Amino acid sequence: MARRQYNSYNDAMLEFIADELGQLKQSGLYRSLKTITKTDGRMVEINDKQYINFCSNNYLGLANHPKVIEASQQAAKEYGVGAGASRLICGNLSIHKELEKKIANFKGRETAILFPTGYMANLGAITALVDENDTVIIDRLNHASIIDACKLSKAKLQVYPHKDMAALEKILQRSAKYKKRLIITDSIFSMDGDIASLPEIVRLAKEFQALTMIDEAHATGVLGTRGKGLEEHYGMEGKVDIVMGTLSKAVGSLGGFIAGSAELIDYLTNKARSFIYTTALPPSVCAASIAALGIIENEPELIKKLRNNIAHLTPLIPLSIFDGEGETRREGVRIFTPIIPIIVGDLQKTMELSDKLFNAGILAAGIRPPTVPENECRIRLTVSALHTKEDIECLASLLQERTPAAVKPI
Ligand SMILES: *Cc1c(COP(=O)(O)O)cnc(C)c1O
Repeated sequence: MARRQYNSYNDAMLEFIADELGQLKQSGLYRSLKTITKTDGRMVEINDKQYINFCSNNYLGLANHPKVIEASQQAAKEYGVGAGASRLICGNLSIHKELEKKIANFKGRETAILFPTGYMANLGAITALVDENDTVIIDRLNHASIIDACKLSKAKLQVYPHKDMAALEKILQRSAKYKKRLIITDSIFSMDGDIASLPEIVRLAKEFQALTMIDEAHATGVLGTRGKGLEEHYGMEGKVDIVMGTLSKAVGSLGGFIAGSAELIDYLTNKARSFIYTTALPPSVCAASIAALGIIENEPELIKKLRNNIAHLTPLIPLSIFDGEGETRREGVRIFTPIIPIIVGDLQKTMELSDKLFNAGILAAGIRPPTVPENECRIRLTVSALHTKEDIECLASLLQERTPAAVKPI
C-alpha cells in the first residue's frame, strides 16, 4: 500500500513538472544553460565559436588577472582546496581572518564577516537582525536575495516604488509601532543600473529612527574613485549602519560579506544561520579576493578604464531602442555604472535582439520575467575594463544595425 502511494505521488509530481516546463516553453520563459568552454574574461568560447562577453559581472577583469590567479594557486598549495569544516567548528583559517580585515579596512568599518556567497550574506544577516516584531522596508527593485531573506525573517515586509522617497517617508510615518525598522536598498540596482538615493534614505532613517542597510554587490570596486562603493560615491563614508557586499562581481572571485561594528559582527557570528551551518570558503578563493582587493587599492587606473569604457559605450547606444520611460528613468545616472539595460519591452523582440547579437559574436543576455516585470524585458549589457575600444564599437555598430566589426579571438 505504502509503495502504491509513493508511485502515485511520484506520477503526480512528474506530471506537475512536465506541465510547468510546458507552460514555460509555451510562454517563451523557458531557460537553458549555455556552456562556456574557454574564457579570458573579455571573450568566451561557446560551441567552438568566440564571443565578446557583454554580460559578466567581472567588471575589472580581476577573475582573470595573473596576480590573482597566482595568489589563488599558492593558497591551494598551502592550505589545500577546501576549508574542511564550518568556521565555528574547525574551518576558520588565518586567511579568512586576513580577508575579513581587508574588507573591513576597504569599507571603512571596524570589522567584517564572510559568507560563502552574497545571497547567503543577505539571508544570514537579515534573518538574524529582524523578526516578527519588526518591519523591513525595501525598494521594489531590490535583489531577489533581499526579498527572500525578508520573507524568511517574518518581519513585516513593506515595499516602496523604485527610488520613491516620498513613499518611503509615508511608510516610515506609519511604522512607529514596530520594534525595529530596517531600510534595505541595493546600491546599484542589478537590472536597471541606476543608483540608490542614499543621502535621502539616510536622512529619513535618522528622522524616523530606522536602521539602514546597503547591498553593495555591484558597487564594490566600481562606485567612488577608489571603488569603495555608494558611500564613497556620495562622500558619506560610515553613514550606513550595515554594509553588505559580494566578492563575486568586480572583485572577481566568490563570497559575500557584512561589514560593520564589532558588536554587529560578533552577533552575526553567533546568530546568522547561513554563516553557522555551512562550510567556510575555500582558501584559494579567499586568497584571490585578498589579491584582487589589493589591486583595486593600488591600481586606481583600472576603475578609470572601466569608467572610460562606460562613458564610451553609453552615447553610442541608439536612443531609439530604449523605451521612453526606461530612458528617462536612467537619465544622468548611467555614466556611473557598468550595467546598461536596453529596455525592449516585448519578450520576443528582446530575445530576437539577443539572438541577433549572439549570431554576430556578442554575448548579451536577454532578461525576462520573473527577473524583471512583464513588458520590461531587456538586454542587460555590462561593461568591463577588459573591453577594448573595438569591442565597444562592434557592439554599438550592431545595435545601430551597421555591419559588425571583426571579432578578435581569445
Ligand atoms: C549578485 C547579487 C547578490 C548575490 O551575490 P552572490 O555573491 O552572487 O551570491 C546579492 N545582491 C545583489 C544586488 C546582487 O546583484
